[in-house]
Amino acid sequence: MANEGGFASAQITYQFDVGVLQGCLLRQGLRKSAGGRFVRPQPVGRAMGLGSSYNRWVNTAHQSLSNALSGSPVDASALWAELQKAAQELGFSQIGVTGVNLAEAEPGLEAWLAAGFHGSMNYMASHGLKRARPAELVPGTVRVITVRMDYLPGNVKSLSAETAWHSLERAQLGVVSVYARGRDYHKVMRGRLQKLQARMAAILGPFGHRVFTDSAPVMEAELAVRSGQGWRGKNTLVLQRDAGSFFFLGELFVDLALPLTEPVSDHCGSCRACMDVCPTQAIVAPYQLDARRCISYLTIEHAGPIPVEFRAAIGNRIYGCDDCQWACPWNKFAKRSVLPDFDARPALNEPELADLLAWDELTFLRMTEGSAIRRIGHARWIRNVALAAGNALAKPSLLSAAQRQALVQALQPWLVHPDLVVQEQVTWSLQQAA
Ligand code: SF4
Ligand code: SF4
Repeated sequence: MANEGGFASAQITYQFDVGVLQGCLLRQGLRKSAGGRFVRPQPVGRAMGLGSSYNRWVNTAHQSLSNALSGSPVDASALWAELQKAAQELGFSQIGVTGVNLAEAEPGLEAWLAAGFHGSMNYMASHGLKRARPAELVPGTVRVITVRMDYLPGNVKSLSAETAWHSLERAQLGVVSVYARGRDYHKVMRGRLQKLQARMAAILGPFGHRVFTDSAPVMEAELAVRSGQGWRGKNTLVLQRDAGSFFFLGELFVDLALPLTEPVSDHCGSCRACMDVCPTQAIVAPYQLDARRCISYLTIEHAGPIPVEFRAAIGNRIYGCDDCQWACPWNKFAKRSVLPDFDARPALNEPELADLLAWDELTFLRMTEGSAIRRIGHARWIRNVALAAGNALAKPSLLSAAQRQALVQALQPWLVHPDLVVQEQVTWSLQQAA
Protein backbone atom coordinates (compact mmCIF):
# COMPACT_ATOMS: atom_id res chain seq x y z
CA MET A 1 0.00 0.00 0.00
CA ALA A 2 2.85 2.36 0.85
CA ASN A 3 4.51 1.73 -2.50
CA GLU A 4 1.27 2.31 -4.35
CA GLY A 5 0.95 5.58 -2.49
CA GLY A 6 4.38 6.70 -3.71
CA PHE A 7 6.20 6.12 -0.42
CA ALA A 8 9.59 4.41 -0.48
CA SER A 9 8.78 2.22 2.50
CA ALA A 10 6.56 1.97 5.53
CA GLN A 11 7.19 0.72 9.04
CA ILE A 12 4.77 -0.01 11.82
CA THR A 13 5.43 0.36 15.50
CA TYR A 14 3.23 -0.55 18.38
CA GLN A 15 2.90 -0.34 22.09
CA PHE A 16 1.30 -3.02 24.21
CA ASP A 17 -1.41 -1.95 26.57
CA VAL A 18 -0.60 -4.21 29.52
CA GLY A 19 -4.15 -4.01 30.76
CA VAL A 20 -5.51 -5.39 27.49
CA LEU A 21 -3.00 -8.21 27.43
CA GLN A 22 -3.57 -9.13 31.02
CA GLY A 23 -7.22 -9.29 30.22
CA CYS A 24 -6.59 -11.77 27.45
CA LEU A 25 -7.81 -15.11 28.78
CA LEU A 26 -6.04 -16.97 26.02
CA ARG A 27 -2.66 -15.78 27.18
CA GLN A 28 -3.43 -16.14 30.85
CA GLY A 29 -4.56 -19.73 30.44
CA LEU A 30 -1.48 -20.72 28.52
CA ARG A 31 0.82 -19.11 31.03
CA LYS A 32 -0.90 -20.73 33.95
CA SER A 33 -0.48 -24.25 32.68
CA ALA A 34 2.85 -24.45 30.93
CA GLY A 35 4.72 -21.23 31.44
CA GLY A 36 4.73 -20.88 27.65
CA ARG A 37 4.26 -17.67 25.76
CA PHE A 38 1.43 -17.67 23.32
CA VAL A 39 0.91 -14.16 22.09
CA ARG A 40 0.40 -12.64 18.72
CA PRO A 41 3.90 -11.29 18.10
CA GLN A 42 3.17 -8.34 15.87
CA PRO A 43 -0.18 -6.87 16.74
CA VAL A 44 -0.80 -3.60 15.00
CA GLY A 45 -1.26 -1.25 17.89
CA ARG A 46 -3.13 1.85 18.71
CA ALA A 47 -0.56 4.08 17.06
CA MET A 48 -2.12 2.97 13.78
CA GLY A 49 -5.64 3.24 15.07
CA LEU A 50 -6.07 -0.48 14.58
CA GLY A 51 -6.21 -1.61 18.18
CA SER A 52 -9.70 -2.91 17.67
CA SER A 53 -8.45 -5.38 15.00
CA TYR A 54 -6.02 -6.90 17.44
CA ASN A 55 -8.61 -7.10 20.18
CA ARG A 56 -11.02 -8.71 17.73
CA TRP A 57 -8.40 -11.34 16.93
CA VAL A 58 -7.83 -12.07 20.61
CA ASN A 59 -11.54 -12.36 21.29
CA THR A 60 -12.13 -14.59 18.27
CA ALA A 61 -9.20 -16.81 19.15
CA HIS A 62 -10.33 -17.13 22.72
CA GLN A 63 -13.88 -17.86 21.68
CA SER A 64 -12.79 -20.54 19.21
CA LEU A 65 -10.43 -22.13 21.71
CA SER A 66 -13.12 -22.20 24.34
CA ASN A 67 -15.55 -23.79 21.91
CA ALA A 68 -13.03 -26.29 20.61
CA LEU A 69 -11.92 -27.31 24.07
CA SER A 70 -15.43 -27.57 25.54
CA GLY A 71 -15.22 -24.44 27.58
CA SER A 72 -12.49 -25.83 29.85
CA PRO A 73 -9.68 -23.46 30.85
CA VAL A 74 -7.47 -23.09 27.80
CA ASP A 75 -3.93 -24.29 28.33
CA ALA A 76 -0.92 -25.07 26.23
CA SER A 77 -1.00 -28.78 26.92
CA ALA A 78 -4.62 -29.01 25.73
CA LEU A 79 -3.74 -27.10 22.60
CA TRP A 80 -0.67 -29.27 22.05
CA ALA A 81 -2.73 -32.43 22.43
CA GLU A 82 -5.17 -31.08 19.84
CA LEU A 83 -2.32 -30.38 17.42
CA GLN A 84 -0.81 -33.80 17.93
CA LYS A 85 -4.15 -35.46 17.34
CA ALA A 86 -4.68 -33.45 14.15
CA ALA A 87 -1.15 -34.25 12.96
CA GLN A 88 -1.61 -37.97 13.56
CA GLU A 89 -4.93 -38.00 11.72
CA LEU A 90 -3.21 -36.33 8.78
CA GLY A 91 -0.54 -39.05 8.58
CA PHE A 92 2.33 -37.28 10.34
CA SER A 93 4.37 -39.34 12.77
CA GLN A 94 5.55 -36.47 14.93
CA ILE A 95 5.34 -32.72 15.25
CA GLY A 96 7.72 -30.33 17.00
CA VAL A 97 8.24 -26.62 17.47
CA THR A 98 11.46 -24.63 17.28
CA GLY A 99 12.50 -20.99 17.25
CA VAL A 100 13.98 -19.02 14.39
CA ASN A 101 17.45 -18.28 15.69
CA LEU A 102 19.68 -20.62 13.68
CA ALA A 103 22.77 -18.43 14.10
CA GLU A 104 24.82 -21.38 15.37
CA ALA A 105 24.20 -23.22 12.11
CA GLU A 106 25.33 -20.35 9.90
CA PRO A 107 29.13 -20.99 10.02
CA GLY A 108 28.58 -24.65 9.05
CA LEU A 109 26.37 -23.64 6.13
CA GLU A 110 28.89 -21.03 4.99
CA ALA A 111 31.79 -23.51 5.21
CA TRP A 112 29.81 -26.15 3.27
CA LEU A 113 29.03 -23.65 0.50
CA ALA A 114 32.59 -22.29 0.49
CA ALA A 115 33.95 -25.81 -0.01
CA GLY A 116 31.74 -26.11 -3.08
CA PHE A 117 30.06 -29.24 -1.68
CA HIS A 118 26.72 -28.08 -3.10
CA GLY A 119 27.99 -28.62 -6.65
CA SER A 120 25.69 -27.10 -9.25
CA MET A 121 22.84 -26.60 -6.79
CA ASN A 122 23.22 -22.85 -7.06
CA TYR A 123 19.88 -22.31 -5.39
CA MET A 124 21.55 -23.50 -2.18
CA ALA A 125 23.88 -20.51 -2.30
CA SER A 126 21.71 -17.95 -4.01
CA HIS A 127 19.57 -17.19 -0.98
CA GLY A 128 22.62 -16.62 1.20
CA LEU A 129 21.96 -16.84 4.90
CA LYS A 130 18.22 -16.44 4.41
CA ARG A 131 18.25 -20.24 4.60
CA ALA A 132 19.35 -19.99 8.21
CA ARG A 133 17.04 -17.07 9.01
CA PRO A 134 13.41 -18.09 8.76
CA ALA A 135 12.22 -14.66 9.87
CA GLU A 136 13.97 -13.09 6.85
CA LEU A 137 12.45 -15.61 4.50
CA VAL A 138 8.95 -15.07 5.88
CA PRO A 139 8.79 -11.83 7.86
CA GLY A 140 6.87 -12.15 11.09
CA THR A 141 7.83 -15.79 11.66
CA VAL A 142 8.66 -16.53 15.30
CA ARG A 143 8.24 -20.30 15.38
CA VAL A 144 8.58 -23.20 12.99
CA ILE A 145 6.31 -26.20 13.45
CA THR A 146 8.14 -29.22 12.05
CA VAL A 147 6.55 -32.49 10.95
CA ARG A 148 7.83 -35.82 9.76
CA MET A 149 6.08 -38.49 7.76
CA ASP A 150 7.24 -42.10 7.35
CA TYR A 151 7.45 -43.18 3.74
CA LEU A 152 8.44 -46.85 3.35
CA PRO A 153 5.80 -48.15 0.93
CA GLY A 154 3.12 -50.32 2.47
CA ASN A 155 2.60 -52.46 -0.64
CA VAL A 156 6.11 -53.90 -1.00
CA LYS A 157 6.15 -57.15 0.96
CA SER A 158 9.83 -57.60 1.49
CA LEU A 159 11.64 -54.39 2.29
CA SER A 160 14.86 -54.56 4.26
CA ALA A 161 18.58 -53.97 4.00
CA GLU A 162 19.01 -57.56 2.78
CA THR A 163 16.52 -57.17 -0.07
CA ALA A 164 18.02 -53.78 -0.94
CA TRP A 165 21.53 -55.27 -1.27
CA HIS A 166 20.10 -58.13 -3.32
CA SER A 167 18.43 -55.69 -5.77
CA LEU A 168 21.73 -53.89 -6.29
CA GLU A 169 23.26 -57.18 -7.45
CA ARG A 170 20.57 -57.79 -10.08
CA ALA A 171 22.31 -55.82 -12.81
CA GLN A 172 19.48 -56.05 -15.34
CA LEU A 173 17.12 -54.17 -13.00
CA GLY A 174 16.99 -50.47 -12.22
CA VAL A 175 16.86 -49.37 -8.57
CA VAL A 176 14.86 -46.24 -7.72
CA SER A 177 15.33 -44.70 -4.29
CA VAL A 178 12.47 -45.93 -2.11
CA TYR A 179 11.03 -42.47 -1.45
CA ALA A 180 10.45 -41.88 -5.18
CA ARG A 181 8.58 -45.09 -6.04
CA GLY A 182 5.19 -43.62 -5.14
CA ARG A 183 3.51 -40.24 -5.37
CA ASP A 184 5.53 -37.02 -5.26
CA TYR A 185 5.97 -36.34 -1.56
CA HIS A 186 6.04 -32.58 -2.14
CA LYS A 187 2.37 -32.72 -3.13
CA VAL A 188 1.37 -35.05 -0.30
CA MET A 189 3.21 -33.16 2.42
CA ARG A 190 2.16 -29.72 1.26
CA GLY A 191 -1.53 -30.65 1.12
CA ARG A 192 -1.44 -32.19 4.58
CA LEU A 193 0.55 -29.35 6.12
CA GLN A 194 -2.08 -26.95 4.78
CA LYS A 195 -4.77 -29.07 6.41
CA LEU A 196 -2.84 -28.99 9.69
CA GLN A 197 -2.71 -25.20 9.47
CA ALA A 198 -6.46 -25.11 8.79
CA ARG A 199 -7.09 -27.26 11.87
CA MET A 200 -5.01 -24.84 13.94
CA ALA A 201 -6.83 -21.85 12.49
CA ALA A 202 -10.16 -23.44 13.37
CA ILE A 203 -9.03 -23.35 17.01
CA LEU A 204 -7.00 -20.15 17.14
CA GLY A 205 -8.45 -18.02 14.41
CA PRO A 206 -6.39 -16.73 11.49
CA PHE A 207 -2.63 -16.41 11.89
CA GLY A 208 0.36 -15.70 9.65
CA HIS A 209 1.91 -18.83 8.18
CA ARG A 210 3.68 -20.45 5.25
CA VAL A 211 4.16 -24.11 4.39
CA PHE A 212 7.45 -25.65 3.20
CA THR A 213 8.52 -29.11 2.23
CA ASP A 214 11.90 -29.25 0.55
CA SER A 215 10.58 -26.40 -1.59
CA ALA A 216 12.49 -23.27 -0.57
CA PRO A 217 15.75 -22.19 1.05
CA VAL A 218 14.97 -23.72 4.43
CA MET A 219 17.40 -25.63 6.69
CA GLU A 220 14.97 -28.49 7.10
CA ALA A 221 17.23 -30.92 8.92
CA GLU A 222 18.48 -28.23 11.29
CA LEU A 223 14.93 -27.18 12.18
CA ALA A 224 13.90 -30.82 12.60
CA VAL A 225 16.81 -31.54 14.95
CA ARG A 226 16.21 -28.46 17.06
CA SER A 227 12.56 -29.36 17.47
CA GLY A 228 13.29 -32.94 18.58
CA GLN A 229 12.42 -34.86 15.39
CA GLY A 230 15.70 -36.73 15.81
CA TRP A 231 19.45 -36.20 15.72
CA ARG A 232 21.67 -35.53 12.72
CA GLY A 233 23.39 -38.79 11.76
CA LYS A 234 26.91 -39.00 10.37
CA ASN A 235 25.25 -39.43 6.95
CA THR A 236 23.73 -35.95 7.60
CA LEU A 237 20.16 -37.30 7.66
CA VAL A 238 17.82 -36.87 10.63
CA LEU A 239 17.50 -40.10 12.63
CA GLN A 240 14.95 -41.24 15.19
CA ARG A 241 15.54 -44.14 17.57
CA ASP A 242 12.14 -45.67 16.87
CA ALA A 243 11.79 -44.68 13.21
CA GLY A 244 15.24 -44.63 11.57
CA SER A 245 15.52 -42.09 8.77
CA PHE A 246 13.04 -43.14 6.09
CA PHE A 247 10.78 -40.16 6.59
CA PHE A 248 10.04 -36.82 4.93
CA LEU A 249 10.29 -33.49 6.68
CA GLY A 250 8.02 -30.49 6.37
CA GLU A 251 7.64 -27.11 8.07
CA LEU A 252 4.95 -24.64 8.93
CA PHE A 253 6.35 -21.16 9.61
CA VAL A 254 4.01 -19.34 11.99
CA ASP A 255 3.77 -15.97 13.69
CA LEU A 256 2.57 -17.54 16.94
CA ALA A 257 4.96 -17.79 19.88
CA LEU A 258 4.20 -21.43 20.61
CA PRO A 259 6.12 -23.20 23.39
CA LEU A 260 9.22 -25.04 22.09
CA THR A 261 9.78 -28.80 22.02
CA GLU A 262 13.09 -30.27 23.18
CA PRO A 263 15.86 -31.72 20.97
CA VAL A 264 17.08 -35.31 21.48
CA SER A 265 20.64 -36.58 21.91
CA ASP A 266 22.91 -38.10 19.24
CA HIS A 267 22.96 -41.91 19.12
CA CYS A 268 25.50 -42.56 16.36
CA GLY A 269 28.22 -43.37 18.89
CA SER A 270 31.27 -45.01 17.32
CA CYS A 271 29.28 -46.38 14.38
CA ARG A 272 30.40 -45.36 10.88
CA ALA A 273 28.48 -47.89 8.80
CA CYS A 274 27.01 -45.22 6.52
CA MET A 275 30.44 -43.80 5.75
CA ASP A 276 31.95 -47.18 5.00
CA VAL A 277 29.11 -48.35 2.75
CA CYS A 278 28.88 -45.22 0.58
CA PRO A 279 29.79 -46.35 -2.96
CA THR A 280 31.33 -42.98 -3.90
CA GLN A 281 32.81 -41.92 -0.52
CA ALA A 282 30.51 -38.91 -0.51
CA ILE A 283 30.46 -38.69 3.30
CA VAL A 284 33.88 -37.11 3.46
CA ALA A 285 33.89 -36.80 7.27
CA PRO A 286 31.31 -37.52 9.95
CA TYR A 287 28.34 -35.20 9.40
CA GLN A 288 29.83 -33.82 6.16
CA LEU A 289 28.48 -34.66 2.74
CA ASP A 290 30.14 -33.65 -0.50
CA ALA A 291 27.02 -33.61 -2.66
CA ARG A 292 29.14 -33.64 -5.80
CA ARG A 293 30.10 -37.23 -5.02
CA CYS A 294 26.66 -38.36 -3.87
CA ILE A 295 24.66 -40.61 -6.20
CA SER A 296 21.44 -38.87 -5.23
CA TYR A 297 22.90 -35.58 -6.45
CA LEU A 298 24.50 -37.10 -9.55
CA THR A 299 21.34 -38.88 -10.73
CA ILE A 300 18.77 -36.23 -9.75
CA GLU A 301 20.26 -32.75 -9.45
CA HIS A 302 23.20 -32.89 -11.81
CA ALA A 303 22.32 -31.97 -15.39
CA GLY A 304 25.52 -32.65 -17.32
CA PRO A 305 27.40 -35.85 -18.05
CA ILE A 306 27.96 -37.99 -14.97
CA PRO A 307 31.73 -37.92 -14.29
CA VAL A 308 33.37 -41.13 -15.49
CA GLU A 309 35.08 -41.66 -12.11
CA PHE A 310 31.67 -42.30 -10.49
CA ARG A 311 29.97 -44.33 -13.23
CA ALA A 312 30.93 -47.83 -12.15
CA ALA A 313 30.13 -47.09 -8.50
CA ILE A 314 26.61 -45.98 -9.42
CA GLY A 315 25.82 -49.54 -10.51
CA ASN A 316 22.13 -49.99 -11.28
CA ARG A 317 20.89 -47.02 -9.21
CA ILE A 318 18.85 -44.96 -11.66
CA TYR A 319 17.27 -42.37 -9.35
CA GLY A 320 18.80 -41.59 -5.99
CA CYS A 321 20.54 -43.90 -3.55
CA ASP A 322 19.53 -45.37 -0.19
CA ASP A 323 22.72 -47.21 0.78
CA CYS A 324 23.67 -45.00 3.73
CA GLN A 325 20.16 -45.45 5.07
CA TRP A 326 19.97 -49.23 4.64
CA ALA A 327 23.36 -49.57 6.32
CA CYS A 328 22.20 -47.60 9.34
CA PRO A 329 21.29 -49.88 12.27
CA TRP A 330 18.50 -47.53 13.35
CA ASN A 331 16.60 -48.24 10.16
CA LYS A 332 15.64 -51.63 11.56
CA PHE A 333 12.99 -49.51 13.25
CA ALA A 334 11.89 -47.62 10.14
CA LYS A 335 8.13 -47.52 9.71
CA ARG A 336 5.87 -48.17 6.77
CA SER A 337 3.80 -45.27 5.53
CA VAL A 338 0.19 -45.21 6.68
CA LEU A 339 -0.73 -43.51 3.40
CA PRO A 340 -1.35 -45.31 0.11
CA ASP A 341 0.23 -42.30 -1.67
CA PHE A 342 3.68 -43.79 -1.08
CA ASP A 343 2.81 -47.26 -2.35
CA ALA A 344 5.39 -48.25 -4.95
CA ARG A 345 4.20 -48.10 -8.55
CA PRO A 346 4.89 -51.43 -10.28
CA ALA A 347 6.72 -49.70 -13.15
CA LEU A 348 9.16 -48.08 -10.67
CA ASN A 349 9.65 -50.99 -8.31
CA GLU A 350 12.69 -52.86 -9.64
CA PRO A 351 11.90 -52.44 -13.34
CA GLU A 352 13.90 -54.12 -16.12
CA LEU A 353 16.36 -51.61 -17.60
CA ALA A 354 15.52 -52.78 -21.13
CA ASP A 355 11.85 -51.94 -20.49
CA LEU A 356 12.73 -48.46 -19.23
CA LEU A 357 14.88 -47.77 -22.28
CA ALA A 358 11.78 -48.40 -24.40
CA TRP A 359 10.03 -45.38 -22.82
CA ASP A 360 9.79 -42.48 -25.21
CA GLU A 361 9.13 -39.05 -23.77
CA LEU A 362 5.35 -39.39 -23.83
CA THR A 363 5.54 -42.73 -22.06
CA PHE A 364 7.93 -41.25 -19.50
CA LEU A 365 5.50 -38.40 -18.80
CA ARG A 366 2.60 -40.81 -18.46
CA MET A 367 4.42 -43.28 -16.22
CA THR A 368 5.79 -40.57 -13.94
CA GLU A 369 2.66 -38.46 -13.66
CA GLY A 370 2.37 -37.25 -10.05
CA SER A 371 5.83 -38.67 -9.27
CA ALA A 372 8.92 -36.73 -8.16
CA ILE A 373 10.87 -38.44 -10.96
CA ARG A 374 9.07 -36.37 -13.56
CA ARG A 375 11.02 -33.32 -12.41
CA ILE A 376 14.29 -34.56 -13.91
CA GLY A 377 12.83 -34.85 -17.39
CA HIS A 378 13.11 -37.60 -19.98
CA ALA A 379 16.66 -36.90 -21.18
CA ARG A 380 18.21 -37.13 -17.70
CA TRP A 381 16.14 -40.24 -17.02
CA ILE A 382 17.45 -41.94 -20.16
CA ARG A 383 20.99 -40.82 -19.23
CA ASN A 384 20.62 -42.59 -15.87
CA VAL A 385 19.05 -45.74 -17.25
CA ALA A 386 21.67 -45.94 -20.01
CA LEU A 387 24.43 -45.62 -17.41
CA ALA A 388 22.98 -48.52 -15.41
CA ALA A 389 22.67 -50.56 -18.62
CA GLY A 390 26.35 -49.87 -19.37
CA ASN A 391 27.31 -51.05 -15.89
CA ALA A 392 25.30 -54.22 -16.43
CA LEU A 393 26.98 -54.86 -19.78
CA ALA A 394 30.37 -54.44 -18.09
CA LYS A 395 29.59 -57.50 -15.94
CA PRO A 396 28.68 -60.26 -18.38
CA SER A 397 28.57 -62.88 -15.61
CA LEU A 398 25.54 -61.15 -14.09
CA LEU A 399 23.47 -61.28 -17.32
CA SER A 400 22.05 -64.04 -19.47
CA ALA A 401 22.82 -63.83 -23.18
CA ALA A 402 19.22 -62.78 -23.82
CA GLN A 403 19.39 -60.01 -21.22
CA ARG A 404 22.64 -58.77 -22.69
CA GLN A 405 21.22 -58.68 -26.20
CA ALA A 406 18.04 -56.95 -25.01
CA LEU A 407 20.07 -54.19 -23.34
CA VAL A 408 22.28 -53.55 -26.37
CA GLN A 409 19.23 -53.37 -28.64
CA ALA A 410 17.40 -51.06 -26.25
CA LEU A 411 20.39 -48.70 -26.02
CA GLN A 412 21.10 -48.33 -29.72
CA PRO A 413 18.17 -46.04 -30.71
CA TRP A 414 19.30 -43.43 -28.15
CA LEU A 415 22.62 -42.92 -29.95
CA VAL A 416 20.82 -40.31 -32.03
CA HIS A 417 19.19 -38.47 -29.14
CA PRO A 418 19.28 -34.66 -29.66
CA ASP A 419 20.82 -34.16 -26.20
CA LEU A 420 24.60 -34.56 -26.41
CA VAL A 421 24.76 -35.71 -22.78
CA VAL A 422 22.49 -38.65 -23.62
CA GLN A 423 24.46 -39.43 -26.79
CA GLU A 424 27.76 -39.52 -24.89
CA GLN A 425 26.32 -41.66 -22.11
CA VAL A 426 24.80 -44.19 -24.52
CA THR A 427 28.06 -44.40 -26.48
CA TRP A 428 29.98 -45.08 -23.25
CA SER A 429 27.42 -47.69 -22.18
CA LEU A 430 27.58 -49.57 -25.47
CA GLN A 431 31.37 -49.57 -25.24
CA GLN A 432 31.06 -51.53 -21.98
CA ALA A 433 29.61 -54.42 -23.97
CA ALA A 434 32.72 -54.73 -26.13
S1 SF4 B 1 22.96 -41.44 -0.77
FE1 SF4 B 1 24.41 -43.02 -1.49
S2 SF4 B 1 26.03 -41.88 -2.50
FE2 SF4 B 1 24.89 -40.39 -1.24
S3 SF4 B 1 25.97 -40.35 0.72
FE3 SF4 B 1 24.38 -41.90 0.92
S4 SF4 B 1 25.38 -43.84 0.33
FE4 SF4 B 1 26.65 -42.17 -0.39
S1 SF4 C 1 25.02 -45.66 10.09
FE1 SF4 C 1 25.82 -45.32 12.15
S2 SF4 C 1 27.01 -43.42 11.97
FE2 SF4 C 1 25.71 -43.54 10.17
S3 SF4 C 1 23.89 -42.37 10.69
FE3 SF4 C 1 23.45 -44.52 11.24
S4 SF4 C 1 24.06 -44.72 13.40
FE4 SF4 C 1 24.96 -42.83 12.63
